[in-house]
Amino acid sequence: MKLSLIVPCYNEEGNVEKFFDLVTEVFEGKVDDYEFVFVNDGSTDGTRERLKALYLGKNEKKNIQYLSFSRNFGKEAAIYAGLSKAKGDLLCIIDADLQQRPEVVLEMLEIIKKDEDTDCVTAYQEERKEGKIVSSLKALFYKGINKISDVEFRNGASDFRLFRRNVAEALLQMREYHRFSKGMFSFVGFNTEYIPYTVAERESGESKWSLRKLIKYAFEGIFAFSTAPLKISAYTGISFILLALGAFILSFFASAWLIISAVFFIGGAILLNLGIIGQYLAKMYVQGKDRPVYILKEHFDNEETD
Ligand code: UDP
Ligand code: MG
Repeated sequence: MKLSLIVPCYNEEGNVEKFFDLVTEVFEGKVDDYEFVFVNDGSTDGTRERLKALYLGKNEKKNIQYLSFSRNFGKEAAIYAGLSKAKGDLLCIIDADLQQRPEVVLEMLEIIKKDEDTDCVTAYQEERKEGKIVSSLKALFYKGINKISDVEFRNGASDFRLFRRNVAEALLQMREYHRFSKGMFSFVGFNTEYIPYTVAERESGESKWSLRKLIKYAFEGIFAFSTAPLKISAYTGISFILLALGAFILSFFASAWLIISAVFFIGGAILLNLGIIGQYLAKMYVQGKDRPVYILKEHFDNEETD
């Protein structure tokens, strides 16, 4: 069975060669038939040149594909592009920065090969190596989104997954523009095994996730997989109208400030509700344009050019 490693790369010039070497070394004698699908997500450093050198250079197996986007489209777009070009019967999404070790891929392979009913193996972080605030915010997010969404999200589960082609085909059928892998994997279903893994230190460069990006990503997840916020907005609207009625009665006895505060209150509620509706409208607007998830600048494939 052929294995495709889908590797999103954004400014990873210091990592891609080390990644290639380490995988080649770890897989030696254990995995024969595999390919690298590197997706250069509009890097502004030397990632593209490094990938091209790898592609043209020492790789004896001739097992590299690399795609370059016309600009940075984000990791989700890179995963989608990788999925659509990968040729394997098994596919694995793995980061380029060596935080996710190829030894774990061997573990995943063993599990999926042992049981033909297992369609996907997902690595989850047993202990998070991040600050208390970030990890409690994440816990809060998962608690919340699991309450309001139809599909289940597992805290700590990463994009580091190995799965069969049937799962990949299902993901490719989901053509949404705002992609949120964690939810999409739950949405398509299939039997998933979870294995713990420890995230290694980043080999070189820095993480692309700031707190701001994480919060944005969390909202992407909520708005992509739940319509509950729309209901919340209707419910708060109704409650605030009732409150306003109460305030109106009270205003016969109390000072004018009460009315002012009520006005603010209601104004706030309306703005909040409009904001929530606006979020969904914005998503529909972008989806309605039917824009491509990514734009390719180049695609090289050892197998096809030989
Ligand atoms: N990545 C990408 N496009 C982006 C941001 C990140 O392809 O816009 C890639 C990045 O090169 C890496 C993986 O996604 O291979 C995970 O990114 P990062 O290491 O920054 O995330 P973290 O490990 O800190 O969660
Ligand atoms: Mg990383």
